[in-house]
Amino acid sequence: MTGQIIDGKAIAAKVRAKVAEDVEARVAAGLSRPGLATVLVGENPASEVYVRMKQRACEKAGITSFGHNLPADISQEDLEKLVSDLNADPAVNGILVQLPLPDGLDEERVLNAISIEKDVDGFHPINMGRLAQKGRESLFVPCTPDGVIYLLDETGVELEGANAVVLGRSNIVGMPVALLLVKRNATVTICHSRTKNLSDECAKADVLIAAVGRPEMVKKDWVKPGAVVIDVGTNRVDDPSTEKGYRLVGDVDFNEVKEVAGAISPSPGGVGPMTIAMLLRNTVRAAEIADRK
Ligand code: NDP
Repeated sequence: MTGQIIDGKAIAAKVRAKVAEDVEARVAAGLSRPGLATVLVGENPASEVYVRMKQRACEKAGITSFGHNLPADISQEDLEKLVSDLNADPAVNGILVQLPLPDGLDEERVLNAISIEKDVDGFHPINMGRLAQKGRESLFVPCTPDGVIYLLDETGVELEGANAVVLGRSNIVGMPVALLLVKRNATVTICHSRTKNLSDECAKADVLIAAVGRPEMVKKDWVKPGAVVIDVGTNRVDDPSTEKGYRLVGDVDFNEVKEVAGAISPSPGGVGPMTIAMLLRNTVRAAEIADRK
């Protein structure tokens, strides 16, 4: 039997429509139009695509976007100066520095320089630290992990007391997803490249989140029947039959796993669209925080 397919595109479209409504309601009420500054350093083609997608999504939602494209050889000081100028600019509510930064630039120092009230990516150490602390709330939650939890909530998954297994422990996906699941009272196991008996760990999961960047690694026999599976992975695999010569696949072998999972979000078409939707939502929240000042 095929599990429920969690349609990230449709869920993200609803979130984006709500964001657009909220933006227009703000403007109609005489409040500022939210603004997002994107900072792209160097010429990484994937980053260029992501930034363009984010800017287009802003336009569609009525959010003003301010694009800053900088050369790869920009100095650390000049990059931090730009961030500091954006912190001071009242038209900018959110600041997104597209990662990874080119070699030679200190990512941690740049993320530290962003005002936590404009940290719509949620990567500032204070926002990340609050995520890890009991009884504390970060101002912003990283967008991809936030999107994962949103998909689980929309699917009606009971997280409290569930055995959740997160594959991956990166700063941007695995670890914050795990922390969010803990906040929701799931019992969480974090797996990584040194985990022994990975398939056995996965098979204990009621909720399985895959964020490892390994094409179709998670197989049918890794998944407990009825488990909910969220595939964050986005991997290029060669495919000469396509125009581009490659196609995108997730970390989960979707065709196999959908036969045993209770519900599954595919990749592409699952978490990816949610990431941008959550970014837009965070930008409106940043504007609301600025209203209160
Ligand atoms: P990273 O490479 O930063 O982290 C990968 C994690 O997976 C690490 O913790 C690593 O372990 C672990 N890992 C790698 N190989 C194995 C293995 N064979 N067995 C067990 N664990 C393994 O990746 P990201 O977190 O940045 O991204 C993960 C995936 O999610 C990628 O496919 C990426 O493209 C996708 N992604 C999708 C987004 C979206 O949809 N919006 C946004 C961001 C990422 P260790 O820590 O030990 O090295």
